[in-house]
Formats: sequence, structure tokens, C-alpha cells
Amino acid sequence: MEARELQALTEQAAEHLARGKRVVVFTGAGISTESGIPDFRGPQGLWRRENPENYTYQRFLSDPDWRKQSWKRFAGGGMAEGAEPNPAHYAVAELDRLGLLDCVITQNIDGLHQRAGVHDDRVIELHGTFKWVKCLDCGARFPREEIKDRILAGEETPDCPQCHGMLKTAVIAFGEPMPVWETLEAERRSRACDVCLVIGSSLVVYPAAYMPLFAHQAGAKLIIINQGETPLDSLADVRIDARAGQTMTLIMDGVKRRLTR
Ligand code: NAD
Ligand code: ZN
Repeated sequence: MEARELQALTEQAAEHLARGKRVVVFTGAGISTESGIPDFRGPQGLWRRENPENYTYQRFLSDPDWRKQSWKRFAGGGMAEGAEPNPAHYAVAELDRLGLLDCVITQNIDGLHQRAGVHDDRVIELHGTFKWVKCLDCGARFPREEIKDRILAGEETPDCPQCHGMLKTAVIAFGEPMPVWETLEAERRSRACDVCLVIGSSLVVYPAAYMPLFAHQAGAKLIIINQGETPLDSLADVRIDARAGQTMTLIMDGVKRRLTR
């Protein structure tokens, strides 16, 4: 995209955001690629190398060897371990400091919105988080590091310290039920916002991708920043096909200019 075109589109987005009272930011893996975490469906996406069907909830539950392999991978550290927020995450945190942000609804499990300074209470993690391990039997949760240490000390399939039940990372696997509170809360906030800003999502994973649709149906302005097409492009008030970091930096410049005028 030409610099002049990008400038014009980011100004339009800034205009909507500066007028917003309840902005919902909806993010996907594309906001974190500039932090070095690969997405699933982008040009360098993980699904070009791996088969998503291996990573189902059903396989984890039914295949003890797969569980061992999964814990070994877990102890080796995922892509999200050690990743730092990038300018797009900081721009979203700035929206929060300016008092415009209602919440962030994210499909990401990397915790980078919180690391950039958005309060935990304002981040709805639709697909879980890599920071915790949960017991599938009693529901207790444990810090990732605690379980990792047990694996590094020799355990192959750690069990729950409280009930000896089956442990699993708190990342939602394919085929695993969505977290109930998060899903309902995300829907409620989406229907009540006045601007919905999508950053870095292909918008093909449901029910997550319903959220921007709910917002649009309820009359909110819809802004989509994503490299590559999405099924909701024709509904967007502003559509920017460009990198998240640079685009969000330009947009926040425009928002701050408008608020200090
Ligand atoms: P996706 O992989 O389906 O789509 C990401 C989109 O972002 C693609 O269209 C891609 O072209 C675009 N993109 C990549 N880099 C970009 C950039 N710098 N600027 C703008 N756009 C960029 O991801 P999704 O929509 O989030 O859905 C897939 C699932 O992947 C989700 O369920 C999510 O939980 C999971 N996931 C999460 C992480 C993470 O936590 N960081 C990483 C990989 C996958
Ligand atoms: Zn338990």
C-alpha cells in the first residue's frame, strides 16, 4: 500500500476511535507475528508445516503417548515464551490509558496485551492462555513454571497435585469446548461497543469471529487491520491491508492529535 493511502485510511480509523466511548479491540495471531510468534494461516503460518488434526483435544484425552509428547514439547518452551510486545500491543495499551478501551477480546494465548500494560481485567482470552496449566478433573490451575519444573525433573505425564486428575495446558485445543464465561462476556461486550477494531485475524475461526460481526450488527463502526483478506471485509467501515505495528502507530498518532485539540 502507498504511504499516502495508508495515511488517509489511518486518519479515518483515528476519527472513529477518537469519537468512540466503548472501543472493543479484537485480536488474532497476526498482532503477534512482529513479536516473532508465527501465526497459523499467514504466509509463514504454522499450518503450512504442521497438520492441525494432530492437535485435537480428543487425541490428548485418548492417547497417553501423545500426552507424553505434548508435555515434552511444553517443557521445551513454546513460541510465546520470552516473546516481547511490539508497537501494535503498545498502541492498544495506549488506547486503554486514554480511557477509550472497553476491552480486548483476543484469540491469542501469548499474554502480550497484558505485558504491554493492559490490565488483566480488560483482556478476554477466548482461547485460553499458555501461562497456566489446568486440572481437567477438579478445575484447579497451576503456574506453567511449576509443572515445567516437574517435567524437567523427570516426570513424563504430570498429574494434579490436588486430586491426581489429568492436567492439560490452559490453551484451548481444537475440539475442546470454549470457555463459557469468556465467550458470553465477549459476546455481550461486542454487542455493546461503538467501535470494533480488528487487528491481525483471518476471521475464519468460529465462534471467535462472530464477535466483530455482532458488533457490526449492533451498529458499531468496524475497522479491520489485517494483511490478507477476511470474510468480513465488505462490512468494514475502514479496511487496512497492512502490517499491524506501523498501522497502529499511525492510528494512535491521529487519535492523540484529535484528543489534544
Ligand atoms: P490466523 O493465523 O488465522 O490469521 C492471522 C492473520 O494475520 C492472517 O490473515 C495473516 O495474514 C495476518 N497477519 C500476520 N502478520 C500480520 C501483521 N504483522 N500485521 C497484520 N496482519 C498480519 O490467526 P487467528 O485469526 O488468530 O486464528 C487462528 C488461531 O490461532 C486462534 O485460535 C489463536 O488462538 C491461535 N494462535 C495464537 C497465537 C498467539 O497466541 N500469538 C499464535 C498462533 C495461533
Ligand atoms: Zn485436580
